[in-house]
Amino acid sequence: MAKENEFVSQIADIETDFPQWYTDVVLKTKLVDYGPVRGTMVIRPYGYAIWENIQRELDKRFKETGHENAYFPLLIPMSFMTKEAEHVEGFAPEVAVVTHAGGEKLAEPLCIRPTSETIIGTMYAKWIQSYRDLPVLMNQWCNVMRWEKTTRPFLRTSEFLWQEGHTVHATEEEAMEETMKMLSVYEEVARTCLAMPVLTGRKTEKEKFAGAVATYGMEAMMHDGKSLQAGTSHYLGQNFSKAFNIQFSDKDGALKYGYTTSWGVSTRLIGGIIMTHGDQRGLVLPPVIAPVQAVIVPIASKKPGVLEACRALKGRLAEAGVRVTLDDSDNSPGWKFNEWEMKGVPVRIELGPRDLEAGKLLLARRDTHEKSEASLECAEAAVAALLDDVQQNLYLRAKARMESRIVSAETLDELLDGVNQGNFVRAGWCGCRACEDKVKEFAQATARVFAKEDTAERCVACGKKSAHTVIFARAY
Ligand code: ZN
Repeated sequence: MAKENEFVSQIADIETDFPQWYTDVVLKTKLVDYGPVRGTMVIRPYGYAIWENIQRELDKRFKETGHENAYFPLLIPMSFMTKEAEHVEGFAPEVAVVTHAGGEKLAEPLCIRPTSETIIGTMYAKWIQSYRDLPVLMNQWCNVMRWEKTTRPFLRTSEFLWQEGHTVHATEEEAMEETMKMLSVYEEVARTCLAMPVLTGRKTEKEKFAGAVATYGMEAMMHDGKSLQAGTSHYLGQNFSKAFNIQFSDKDGALKYGYTTSWGVSTRLIGGIIMTHGDQRGLVLPPVIAPVQAVIVPIASKKPGVLEACRALKGRLAEAGVRVTLDDSDNSPGWKFNEWEMKGVPVRIELGPRDLEAGKLLLARRDTHEKSEASLECAEAAVAALLDDVQQNLYLRAKARMESRIVSAETLDELLDGVNQGNFVRAGWCGCRACEDKVKEFAQATARVFAKEDTAERCVACGKKSAHTVIFARAY
């Protein structure tokens, strides 16, 4: 068995075998490992630290927009799941059910939550009486389970971590405003923290959340040109409030059903970061969410003063708010360079006897592999500026790639050609399900989101008048 720390040369080619590249990178960088139950993943400390950083950024914004965190039970009575017809139909195949506990068969089977609309709706019905109780703005950080046949770490696993926001409003307008507000929060976090450009928009009936009136999603382009649904925000109308009896007496004294929303992002975002920014050497992490933003590698560390200087520098950078580590292991500098590059650390700092003499340090950035010098005296400012620059560059690079790979198609053949070349394809759609299915069958591409502007004239599948311009792509 190969030692765990052997690396780099064993990463599959990113251009010719992207799926294997992905698997190699997530395992070798110790982000995850496979769990003993098929389809489960163990999120290891380095992967979990990324999740904590994403969580922190999101949670801050949820609170700034008036939401509170709460926690609801993992187990949901089966009868709850069946109350909203479309919802149960959508989730039934993926739901894991507990039938036995305490050594006996349960009177009512219990679902392990695949999502929590039903149990949260039940509690909201109990808590909400009057218009004064509205809006209710809650979020839950938790795990959910959706039994999957084919799984990949972070992208599709039977159990994953996420947040689910659940809100109730007095009017349709307020609920729609909430739906769009949270979509924009997701978009902003993707852009400014994950350096991940996304397309946002409404989803088709076929692709929407089971039980929603309308689903809005954000889609990101991965290295191979496939799309990753990176987050969704659902306007649920009164579907769940009617199924769960979420009613309130309004100012006019009338008893009315509330309007609800739900919205979520998950550990899938980590997969998105990997597949947006990674390169042949491994991970490339955006500084805002990187567990380690800068690593100090001592050069000729046995020479007097070097390690001491490195330790002092580490202290100064940490003091300045940089997540910094010092690699003082006895591996060679070259080995360390490879290791930390593979782990995607945005900035490497090299410090040796000659640098110390000159009062300098060497900075190497992970995104472009460029090196630069900075004065040791101003190390804090130099590192902070470089981290900002890496963050910016990663976003601009990904954005330029996505924009250059959105093409238009008038026919199914053009659409197929477009997705075969790793593009998102903008095309017209008449709105009929048969045409959406035809695109799927012909090009293995699905409708990701409605385009912001309706530019197409004809449906790509049937040639009739287009009702929506849609972004089609192959998707994870
Ligand atoms: Zn059509």
